[in-house]
Amino acid sequence: MITLALSKGRIYDDSLPLLRAAGVEVLEDPESSRKLILATSRADLRVVLVRATDVPTYVQHGGADIGVAGLDVLLEHDSTGLYRPLDLRIARCRMSVATRDDFDYAAAVRQGSRIRVATKYTHTARQFFADKGVHVDLIKLYGSMELAPLTGLADAIVDLVSTGSTLKANHLVEVEKIMDISSRLVVNQAALKLKREPIRALIEAFEAAVAEGVRR
Ligand code: ATP
Ligand code: MG
Repeated sequence: MITLALSKGRIYDDSLPLLRAAGVEVLEDPESSRKLILATSRADLRVVLVRATDVPTYVQHGGADIGVAGLDVLLEHDSTGLYRPLDLRIARCRMSVATRDDFDYAAAVRQGSRIRVATKYTHTARQFFADKGVHVDLIKLYGSMELAPLTGLADAIVDLVSTGSTLKANHLVEVEKIMDISSRLVVNQAALKLKREPIRALIEAFEAAVAEGVRR
């Protein structure tokens, strides 16, 4: 049995067409069934639904053999025991710095001020600002980052942006892009050895689907 870890929402939705192209149909709809383990058209492959940030943990410790996780999540996570063979090019967005529209970010950077940055992505943000030589106080949050500059908790946030409409609705502006983000396939290194043939075949099928540009 091969266990594939996915998170509900964007990653699940965007993974379905890739799975289909690889000849795999998920037999249950997670929205209506509430099940966390989903059977597929292949008797030897099942899908487990976990929180996006838990996907690397499941795959690392063998709760799943393979998984799909955003680069944002992977960069915050220790990669021991994780093999990362493929960029699936799904759930694409960017990680950016955003501030209130009345905050002069360029001036703060130029003057070498300490900037208070709220984010879920403390590891990536610390690295990014250190490389730029910008002094920051990082504030770890687990959600609703947009609120931080509006309440005075922080001067800036580091968050994922796709259309920018959430920022705009909260009077925030994207002031700097940190990196492009997409979801990656991750594989448990031990599983890759023990279940080499079926896992190799799956990776290759995904690879072909990505190369063909299969997307939602
Ligand atoms: P939860 O919503 O359960 O707290 P989460 O915010 O990590 O968890 P999602 O919002 O479903 O979960 O995001 C899952 C992944 O999808 C992220 O890790 C990221 O890689 C990608 N993602 C997040 N936001 C966007 C976006 N705006 N556009 C495209 N992809 C995104
Ligand atoms: Mg979310």
